[in-house]
Amino acid sequence: MNILLLGAGGREHALAWKLAQSAHCSKLFIAPGNAGTMQFGTNIAISATNFEAQKQFCLEQGIDMVVVGPEDPLVLGVYDYYQQDAALQHILVIGPAAYGAQLEGSKAFSKKFMQRHNIPTAAYAEFETSNFEEGKAYIAQHSLPIVLKADGLAAGKGVVICTSHAEALQVFEEMIVHKQFGDASSRVVIEQFLDGIEVSIFVLTDGTSYQIIGHAKDYKRIGVGDTGLNTGGMGCVSPVPFAQGEFMQKAIDRIIEPTVNGLATENITYKGFIFFGLINVQGEPYTIEYNCRMGDPETEVVMPRLSNDLVELFLAIHNGNLANTTIQFDERACATVVAVSGGYPGNYTKGYGITGLPAANTHADTIVFHAGTSLQNNVIQTNGGRVLAVTSYADNIGSAVQKSKAVLEQIHFDGMYYRHDIGYEF
Ligand code: ATP
Repeated sequence: MNILLLGAGGREHALAWKLAQSAHCSKLFIAPGNAGTMQFGTNIAISATNFEAQKQFCLEQGIDMVVVGPEDPLVLGVYDYYQQDAALQHILVIGPAAYGAQLEGSKAFSKKFMQRHNIPTAAYAEFETSNFEEGKAYIAQHSLPIVLKADGLAAGKGVVICTSHAEALQVFEEMIVHKQFGDASSRVVIEQFLDGIEVSIFVLTDGTSYQIIGHAKDYKRIGVGDTGLNTGGMGCVSPVPFAQGEFMQKAIDRIIEPTVNGLATENITYKGFIFFGLINVQGEPYTIEYNCRMGDPETEVVMPRLSNDLVELFLAIHNGNLANTTIQFDERACATVVAVSGGYPGNYTKGYGITGLPAANTHADTIVFHAGTSLQNNVIQTNGGRVLAVTSYADNIGSAVQKSKAVLEQIHFDGMYYRHDIGYEF
């Protein structure tokens, strides 16, 4: 099969690495990709959301499958675009149609979906401009902390956990009245704070059946000990010791199955990944969020631990074989440690040369995934906040993190920073 992968981050490098191993993958193209994805396919200068340009390319290259990395194309309707065009209909798109992508694209939509299907989640209410005053009254009587969420996509910045009513009222006004996130914050979900440890579970579904393909815990804060500003993710580990046995069974019975059954009973077209963002509150799983794609950096540990042929799983989604598929895992632990540009998640400079990659790429148990990198005049340079995600296998999480850190010691770019304490609790 000729496959087009959309996206440009560490997630897409990990997906490209996995897709290229498939017996079913003839040619792999990545739009637009990064300096790492080039090792496994051909990068093309088309953005993940430029469907018109993709159409042209798909027809020229005889593309059979489109794998969607990030959420934007899904929320913008990439699945529907291909499905509604007679020339593209034969292409298998991995992801939900736009309606189902609202599980990620609209917090109000996903909360209502959870309510309809009795899926445990934080208590909430939603407000918009027309009931702004009611929202203020709701905040004033709410217990603390209180969680405010812009309804739409806000590049991971639309959630604020407020520790005082004054702060919550200010954030609420910023979002609704001053449209801090444009249309994305014209509606706001106000939510009860849940105290616990988060874990993400990844599922592939065809809209009626599903398979769990992995789980992981990520580290969002920039600083050691989970301090400082939120980032896209500074590292990730899998497996997570508590995400098994009774807890996992509760997550399956109360959250994963009701979600997939909900898609089926509501006739929601969904042939792709569901990322369940869960929180463990004293042994009980609650849903924090759904995403309609894989996570980044979670993909960088989930794909290395998944033993199945990924293209075969994608084919099973489309030919009704998913329920009969057995998922197999590499039993080793995996950890990824993310190297970022100095200053990230604030301002940072791009374009620094990265040295040490050839030696770093020689370790049997380590894979250096690229995130924000580009190839300029034969030199691999930094091209984003998160630059590399170094994943290692080992018998346990601690040793996997040590291996990744040892490999990071061989790599250099100006301002490079990474957290030394990924997986510290395990
Ligand atoms: P992401 O970038 O993870 O996709 P997002 O903008 O879609 O984030 P959420 O995942 O809903 O937003 O929330 C972001 C983070 O805020 C969560 O990972 C969690 O740490 C925290 N959070 C969200 N809701 C709650 C809650 N009800 N109680 C406690 N923490 C919460």
